[in-house]
Amino acid sequence: MACITLIIRHFKKRSWENCYRLSWVDFKNDTSVNTKFIGVKKFEEEIQLLKKFTRIISLNDYVNDHVDDTKLNVAITFDDGFENNFSLAKPLLEKYEAPATFFICPLWHQEKNVLWPDLIDHASPYAPTCITVGNEEYKKDRWGRYFHSSGEPINKHITKQNRIFIEKLYDAFLPYAHFMKIKSMAPYWKLMSATQVKQLSQNSLFTIGSHGYTHTHLTFLSNEEVTDELTSSKQTLESVIEKKVFFFAAPFGGYDERTVHLTRQANYSHQLFAQLDVAGNIKANDIIHRFSTNPYLSAYNQVLFIANKNFELPLRTSFRFQSASSTVALLQSLQKAIAGFLFRFQIQHCASNQK
Ligand SMILES: [Zn+2]
Repeated sequence: MACITLIIRHFKKRSWENCYRLSWVDFKNDTSVNTKFIGVKKFEEEIQLLKKFTRIISLNDYVNDHVDDTKLNVAITFDDGFENNFSLAKPLLEKYEAPATFFICPLWHQEKNVLWPDLIDHASPYAPTCITVGNEEYKKDRWGRYFHSSGEPINKHITKQNRIFIEKLYDAFLPYAHFMKIKSMAPYWKLMSATQVKQLSQNSLFTIGSHGYTHTHLTFLSNEEVTDELTSSKQTLESVIEKKVFFFAAPFGGYDERTVHLTRQANYSHQLFAQLDVAGNIKANDIIHRFSTNPYLSAYNQVLFIANKNFELPLRTSFRFQSASSTVALLQSLQKAIAGFLFRFQIQHCASNQK
């Protein structure tokens, strides 16, 4: 599952309007491919904990103040539209009757089925030491990572480019996309089809939002290009699901005053960003910030951080240990015990503070 986000809403007070974004989810919490994934088992544990201690609400209920006044209110969102959202997350969300919103890049419409950052990540091992995209050249370092001649890593450099350049990137890297033939790699790149998005939208638990048309960073685009990203994705999604699309989650959480204005003009009622990408740090009723998940945290600590609405580790004590394994074991048991205590305390504390 990819880029899951939770939005927290505590009672009717705006001070708790923050979001929490889980990363992608795979089968086994394997961070060796990249660190965007959490395991499906851990995802289920988090949903169970959220069900127990909070009220999971839809994004619509969140923005319309339909919240439970006695509990912490949490909205779940997923970015990017990975196929694993459909195959792994959907059954669990249905099992626990947990509403969620999926922010989709309708790449099927462009006859692509992979986001460009994943194409670079997964094709790079098969690609030559030097690759040309348009007029730009990228060379591999000794660890196989591409860098632009300016010294910027390829992903950072391409994040600043427009759709025309992204097209050239696909042309350059797709011949090396051998990972697409490896079945076990599918959860790490494969996107939902139009049929799957339509099926998702037919369940009243789920909402479909836009995540742009080509996953470009809006702040680096011209006004026309931004509007095209916003309207092309909206129209494509609306024609598939036969419902209006009101929510937009900015790729890379990238936004500023200009893109916020253009997004409003494109008839989106709400815009969602990642908490750590607050480039403009704009506060408005139609702007929602989110928290991200961390694949290295236990489900328990992750939910504790939701309650805390930040990512500070509850355990800050440093120790000296004889061996790495004993360090890990002791830290895990200590963290579990302390997190368990803090979590219960935190929930009660939050509840009493809000009264
Ligand atoms: Zn994204």
